[in-house]
Amino acid sequence: MDHFLYRDGQLHAEDVPVADLAATHGTPFYLYSTATLLRHYRLFDEALSWGPHLVCYAMKAASNLAILKTLAAEGAGMDVVSGGEYARAKAAGVPGDRIVFSGVGKTREEIAQALEGGIRQFNVESEPELAVISELAAARNMEVPIAIRVNPDVDAKTHAKIATGKSENKFGIPIARAREVYAHAASLPGIKVTGIDVHIGSQLTDLEPFEMAYRKVADLTEQLRAEGHEITRLDLGGGLGIPYARDNNAPPLPTDYGALIQRTVGHLGCEIEIEPGRLIAGNAGILVSRVIYVKEGEGRDFLILDAAMNDLIRPAMYDAWHDIVPVKQPAPGVETRNYDIVGPVCESGDTFAKARPMPPLKAGDLVAFRSAGAYGAVMSSEYNSRPLVPEILAHGDQHAVIRARPSFEEMLSRDNIPEWL
Ligand SMILES: *Cc1c(COP(=O)(O)O)cnc(C)c1O
Repeated sequence: MDHFLYRDGQLHAEDVPVADLAATHGTPFYLYSTATLLRHYRLFDEALSWGPHLVCYAMKAASNLAILKTLAAEGAGMDVVSGGEYARAKAAGVPGDRIVFSGVGKTREEIAQALEGGIRQFNVESEPELAVISELAAARNMEVPIAIRVNPDVDAKTHAKIATGKSENKFGIPIARAREVYAHAASLPGIKVTGIDVHIGSQLTDLEPFEMAYRKVADLTEQLRAEGHEITRLDLGGGLGIPYARDNNAPPLPTDYGALIQRTVGHLGCEIEIEPGRLIAGNAGILVSRVIYVKEGEGRDFLILDAAMNDLIRPAMYDAWHDIVPVKQPAPGVETRNYDIVGPVCESGDTFAKARPMPPLKAGDLVAFRSAGAYGAVMSSEYNSRPLVPEILAHGDQHAVIRARPSFEEMLSRDNIPEWL
């Protein structure tokens, strides 16, 4: 469920007419709904209400400070994967003891930054990383909580580029080696072995891979406890999928996911952490774009939009489907036409949809890409020197530009001309 609905024949974000924003701020732009963000966060929070837990929003999905502040005010923790994300979480007012740090390549600088600014736990992905965390924490006379990310060798049955839980993926430590690595971790100065971490992939549409992974985590918890480790937290990652197409079978709901967690690991008495990103932000955002031209080709018509692959890369990168809807509600029963929907960038990959049935559209009409809130704006770039796509946040009948479109002058001012030119 989201808060992007037609009202009086016009698409609204909560109580804000999308067309008004396009007229005032220009296109393309991302538009988020506060109520949808909060709704999704609360669904997870409630799904885990049977025990102690923290929902750590995976902020790589959408990391604008206004989005982070919205969630932080609800009590959300954050899952960060870089020093930049750590800085954003802190700037949004998230206390260090609600920030977990994930990622396979944390640098010494990033680890030091988190130790000094405060951190709930590092999710450690390798033995060399463990050694660096130990060295830097011990040098500061600290004992930092860690969870080791185990790779359970489970097939997440999702797109290969976002599957992370098979043994051939770069993530985590093979679960078969976990006991040895935990024993080593416990012997290191500066390290407080606290939990187990697992994250098997993104856009999962079935609970079964989660269940297989979490059962392995439960077994490992018991083994590690038998060996004397105090395992008090389980970080079960993110990955729950969202319905990208309206007519698809809906993926499992957070309530069912929470019940599965209770069933598989609830008896262990651990504090549960989860790291959802896509399910919190995905359906809380749309990308609004204007038709520049309708070009009639041979056997197909092209809708050429002012949004491009640099603004929303998911179709080019993951062959992802986004529902694309006109901002002006089509008349009931209107006959559709098939369009190839493309952007202006000079690559054939700049194609959002092929032979997509749409109500007839003309130059100047507005369209919205639904489910674009996660892995949308954060993956955008200025390729083709197209200004970074702006972001707007709706809240009831209010809205605010939460990242402005840069002017050409601002874009050019980031370059420096060497003195020899
Ligand atoms: C990407 C990622 C997440 C979030 O995944 P979603 O599919 O967006 O829920 C959580 N944890 C880790 C370690 C990740 O890399």
